[in-house]
Amino acid sequence: MILEAKNIHKAYANHKALDDVSISVPQGSVFGLLGPNGAGKTTLIRNINQIIAPDSGEIWFDGERLQPKHIEQIGYLPEERGLYKKMKVGEQAMYLAQLKGLSEKQAMAKLKEWFEKFGMETWWDKKVEELSKGMAQKVQFIVTILHDPKLLIFDEPFSGFDPVNVELLKAEMMNLREKGTTIIFSTHNMGSVEELCDEIALINKSRVVLSGNVKDIQRQYRNQTYSLTYEGETEKDLKPLLPQGFTVLESKPHGHGFYNAKIQIPTDSKINHLLTEITKHVEVTGIQEILPSMNDIFIQTVTKK
Ligand code: ADP
Repeated sequence: MILEAKNIHKAYANHKALDDVSISVPQGSVFGLLGPNGAGKTTLIRNINQIIAPDSGEIWFDGERLQPKHIEQIGYLPEERGLYKKMKVGEQAMYLAQLKGLSEKQAMAKLKEWFEKFGMETWWDKKVEELSKGMAQKVQFIVTILHDPKLLIFDEPFSGFDPVNVELLKAEMMNLREKGTTIIFSTHNMGSVEELCDEIALINKSRVVLSGNVKDIQRQYRNQTYSLTYEGETEKDLKPLLPQGFTVLESKPHGHGFYNAKIQIPTDSKINHLLTEITKHVEVTGIQEILPSMNDIFIQTVTKK
């Protein structure tokens, strides 16, 4: 594990923001810190970044108790991103890059490379106040990752970005993971969890209510639902052909001469049973288990508590 938070408690004046929160972030993973607004995500991120100390609990980084020397190995993109409005973009980026320990030459070379990559060359001499929120966010993203930290932490990285830039950011996150960087990001939007995250922790009302590997969680919540494609001249009503307890959730054409049905089988039944029955009547051309979406799992978990 590159990062472990163990039994973290943090209270503000009249609110317990973290109540016995533990997370384990494997080296090289993309870790989603998920949960509704106010759940405690930013508080945990600030603990990890040593901006505020937890009341109790331990944080371990790369095999050691977290300490100030680790700050330079962690890149942090806060949700509220302050840039100096009157300063020029290039000057500011150079300043921030050098704060992170890059030499002037290194900073210039790397920044030029990234500004080109993101098509931002013409922004260099603009004032920060001339940038849109999304543009400023791109500048901050670059400055955050520029010194190749081992661990990157993005707080709500997609808020304020248009869809094209969200895709750009996701692609860069994937590139960073390929290079072995560990990424923790927080979001209240469950939309891209399956696509991006290897591991997650879902925080609700200051507590971790669900955590682990995304695929493992999806499998744990599997609900015996399968997508079945079959060939036929006309759409067969599958319902009368299925044994009792099997449910057709959805049925629709799937190109010319093919159909697709979403079928849920009883908990004590197996997919082989469905196939044995159905192949007596139709020519099955494909079958795949449908795992529940993380969004559905979250809603189920959060409303249960
Ligand atoms: P999230 O990032 O999940 O939206 P936060 O960690 O920002 O949640 O906030 C968790 C709770 O703690 C919220 O109810 C918030 O109002 C409260 N809170 C956050 N920061 C402070 C603070 N500095 N003082 C008092 N309460 C705070």
